[in-house]
Amino acid sequence: MRCFIGIELSLEATKEIEDLNIQEKIDEVNANPKINVYTSSKIQKIEGQPGQFNVTLDQNGNTVEFKAGAIVLATGWKPYDASKLEELGYGKYDNVITNIQMEELISNGGVKADSVAFIQCAGQRDENHLPYCSSVCCMVSLKQAKLIREQNPDSKVYIFYKDMRTPGLYEDFYRTAQDDEGIFLTKGNVTKVAQEAGGLVVGVEDTLLGETVNVKVDRVVLATGMVSSMEGIPTTKEEQAELQEKGIEFENILNLEYRQGPELPILKYGFPDSNFICFPYETRRTGIYAAGCVRQPMGINESIDDATGAALKAIQCIELISQGGTTFPRSGDVDYPDVFLQRCTQCKRCTEECPFGAINEDEKGTPFYNPMRCRRCGTCFGACPERIVSFKGYSVDMVSTMLKAVSVPGPEEEKPRIIAFVCENDAYPALDMAAMHRLKYNPFIRVIPVRCLGSVNTVFIADTLSKGIDGVLMLGCKYGDDYQCHFIKGSELADYRMGKVQETLDRLMLESDRVKVMQVAITEYDKVPQIMDEFYESIKELEPNPYKGF
Ligand code: SF4
Ligand code: SF4
Repeated sequence: MRCFIGIELSLEATKEIEDLNIQEKIDEVNANPKINVYTSSKIQKIEGQPGQFNVTLDQNGNTVEFKAGAIVLATGWKPYDASKLEELGYGKYDNVITNIQMEELISNGGVKADSVAFIQCAGQRDENHLPYCSSVCCMVSLKQAKLIREQNPDSKVYIFYKDMRTPGLYEDFYRTAQDDEGIFLTKGNVTKVAQEAGGLVVGVEDTLLGETVNVKVDRVVLATGMVSSMEGIPTTKEEQAELQEKGIEFENILNLEYRQGPELPILKYGFPDSNFICFPYETRRTGIYAAGCVRQPMGINESIDDATGAALKAIQCIELISQGGTTFPRSGDVDYPDVFLQRCTQCKRCTEECPFGAINEDEKGTPFYNPMRCRRCGTCFGACPERIVSFKGYSVDMVSTMLKAVSVPGPEEEKPRIIAFVCENDAYPALDMAAMHRLKYNPFIRVIPVRCLGSVNTVFIADTLSKGIDGVLMLGCKYGDDYQCHFIKGSELADYRMGKVQETLDRLMLESDRVKVMQVAITEYDKVPQIMDEFYESIKELEPNPYKGF
């Protein structure tokens, strides 16, 4: 297969198609005495935790067992199901094929054609199919167009695109296609693919020529996109049971023996979940990293870089774990949850809310913490109604002492007192940035930094309000599809839990407006003073907390 490997090479090289000698790489790996390669294998199960994973494989019917310190998942991608693109003629006309099929034709000795039309973004950037861009298809079509022209010098190739995406130096390669008079490129909306008089006709509207064109071609190639290899795989035991019940076949990849499920949690399009800004390789299972197209569509150059990044993270994980610390974002933190199990009511909140699958449980529901899977987020600390989870450096006593130290002005002073629980990952640095920019925030607010909003226990809110504090503001990271929470769902959990604080407020006969959760990104430091001022104004409209002075 001929692929682009130009970016690290000279500017000139980005104009050429290079042969990617993949066999050389395979031979290099096989010859390395420190690398064991297991082909024709499936993972039967993975148990344990970072630094001490026990992996069991089935290799052609034989069981193979070994230990691993960290795991990199690089299972790649699968093509989008083109049978869903009937409107573009796939499945209807034999000569409508996908870019993968064209790649196979070219690799297996070439393609004979007088005219070929490429339809870009086929089933991509389209809410009815894949809403995202697969990032490589424009370059793939340009490459295939040039190879078709090389093999059929008199042929005509048409490329119809929504936008031509050739980032960086790939623009040079795009220009070489533009300079080829046998390649016709235009932006436009493909309105039809139909069979007429022994050929295919592609109708395109809104072209750069300002008119509708109909071109007759021998073949149509659909530039279909990349789907993560994890898409469609059940990630939890419940999803597995549901598919089994419906008789739908599936094959798991990792088969983790975790209470929370056998696979990495994924985002809605099948990409393993991670913090897309700060921790691209991390997944929701500590010590397991995702690299390449399984986590996001990318080309060969990016995949090579990605594999390097994930391998370095795996090495870092093993090193930090061997020192007893966590991997990220509290990198190297050697503290871990200490649970006073004698008082555990087996409510399972900690096991259910831990974002990283760090806690198993026995049949009675007693939690079993795997400290090396733990990322020290404190979500279990925030979840536990008994307040029996603590860290040496972040305990119930510490937060309670900080709360006790806050002075509460008496009712006669007419000074509201507000406590802000502020996440140390984004919101607290945003406050720092606000200070560095000499922005002022309300003097009636006292700030208590927390590991994550997920680590704020509702009991702290009750304690705060029953002490006479007028309002509680919680500042955390953004949540939702494009979440920025460093612990994935801490901020969302805080919002969910605060929905339940109403009961406590009712018991104390206090207004629900006294507690508010807000999301803020570090880049929004200039908004933080305004958020605080607005909350202060809303609290001022209420009567002073009746518990003042008790
Ligand atoms: S601190 Fe976070 S990662 Fe560790 S066990 Fe508790 S909830 Fe899980
Ligand atoms: S949340 Fe607390 S009480 Fe509930 S199972 Fe976990 S440790 Fe036990």
